[in-house]
Amino acid sequence: MDHPFIDIPAPNILSHFPVPVYTTDAKGVISFYNIGAANLWGRKPQVNSPTEQAFSGAWKMYHSDGTAMAHAQCPMALALKFKKSYHQTEITIERPDGSRANVLENINPLFDDNSELIGAVNLMYEITNLKSIEADTYRLAALVESSSDAIIGKNLQGVINSWNRGAEEMFGYTSDEAIGKNVRLIIPDERQEEEDNILAKIRNGEKVESFETIRKSKHGKLIPVSLTISPIKNSSGTIVGASKIARDISMMIKAQNELKHYSRELKRINNSKDDFIAMTSHELKNPLAILKANLQFLESEIPSDSEWQVLIQKSLKQEEKLHVIISNLIDISRIQTGTLSFVFKTFSVNEFLDECIENILTLNPRRKIIREYEPSDPSIYADRIRVSQVLNNLLSNAIKYSAENDPIQVRCYIDGEDLTICVTDAGPGISSDQQERIFDMFFRAKEMRSFPGMGIGLYLSKQIMAAHNGKFWVESEEGAGSSFFASFPIPQTKKD
Ligand code: ADP
Repeated sequence: MDHPFIDIPAPNILSHFPVPVYTTDAKGVISFYNIGAANLWGRKPQVNSPTEQAFSGAWKMYHSDGTAMAHAQCPMALALKFKKSYHQTEITIERPDGSRANVLENINPLFDDNSELIGAVNLMYEITNLKSIEADTYRLAALVESSSDAIIGKNLQGVINSWNRGAEEMFGYTSDEAIGKNVRLIIPDERQEEEDNILAKIRNGEKVESFETIRKSKHGKLIPVSLTISPIKNSSGTIVGASKIARDISMMIKAQNELKHYSRELKRINNSKDDFIAMTSHELKNPLAILKANLQFLESEIPSDSEWQVLIQKSLKQEEKLHVIISNLIDISRIQTGTLSFVFKTFSVNEFLDECIENILTLNPRRKIIREYEPSDPSIYADRIRVSQVLNNLLSNAIKYSAENDPIQVRCYIDGEDLTICVTDAGPGISSDQQERIFDMFFRAKEMRSFPGMGIGLYLSKQIMAAHNGKFWVESEEGAGSSFFASFPIPQTKKD
């Protein structure tokens, strides 16, 4: 056979031997090697050459622990030195191109008729691929062993053939106890047919979807598990069994049940709170109406210059405040039940703003409110009473939270697609972490609790703006005042 490597005198049939093989003389000088050996070494050493490296044609060699191996220390050198055979001795070879191969060497010394050493023959088996398969197998085995899920292997009859530590802990059987038994061991009686279905599907090569079920431990404890079942195929692709991964979901189910319980409880408490607000607000409204009627009667009956008028006016003012609080509470309970109604109409924004400002000034005559309106005097399509609730809340907050001498500014402008109303005060401002929360129901900043209020005005205003497809937000810095913005989409200003 004509082959580039077989320019060596081929003394025997080893030239065509399918296994890498070479021989040396008694001093270790290579006297023959076949193509397999040359390919394994990645080089073609000179034969019968005293200048060539003795003992092995390998470029470099390493012990199996990775340390370098001198040629004089290689198994062939030792076989010649001690005149003894070496079998299945593992070394690593490095080729001139840097690639490496794991090799098992089998060396037999050769003797002449007088029992004089004349050389040795070395048969080499490459095991590089086997090594990586072995490493993968170890890695997988370690993964399976360390998993807290139960991982169980079984054949097509359901007989358990592997049982990891997770399975031992979950079901209480050691692997010795479980292997060889049928997996029905851990299936409660009333669920035995699950196994029939699983095995039938696996045999037919059908997918088994993950499902939640119950399994039974050695001590009879029922364990809720989530099962994932996959077929196991042999090297020719035939299904020979199934792997079953069981995850204990008791904690998850417990947590889910607790969550359900708490959310039911929360809903119940929330409903009671809504009922309470709705009921008390309505109960308060009637006596207040009677109080107001009586005060107004007294106001008209008592001479205007009487000193009692001062008391009556003060009482009417307090009645008005109480009325606003109760109305807000009623609106909140309407929001909760989705019954807050709106009546949309088109009206002039500037005229509307004037009306709101005048109303608030009659109650707070000493405050200064600067107006900066949109010159085009736009109209808006909105619920006038509801939007006035928003503006009254913003104005009364600005008055409440800023000093008496500080002016308040009311601006109205069109910006692109939106018509925006903005109320600015020079009050204490709102820290950035509180800016989102001030729109929550009943939220009041700690520092502001000395001022009267219930923390519902901004929440209500936000709901009202949402019903107008509008936006509602604050821009503020602590110590540098606040600006509240209510903006309406422009198409809303065009409809009627
Ligand atoms: P209330 O004013 O009755 O507390 P609101 O819902 O109107 O309720 O406001 C919620 C909270 O937002 C207030 O308690 C206050 O902490 C903060 N806040 C509202 N407006 C201002 C403002 N102009 N300046 C500073 N803080 C404000």
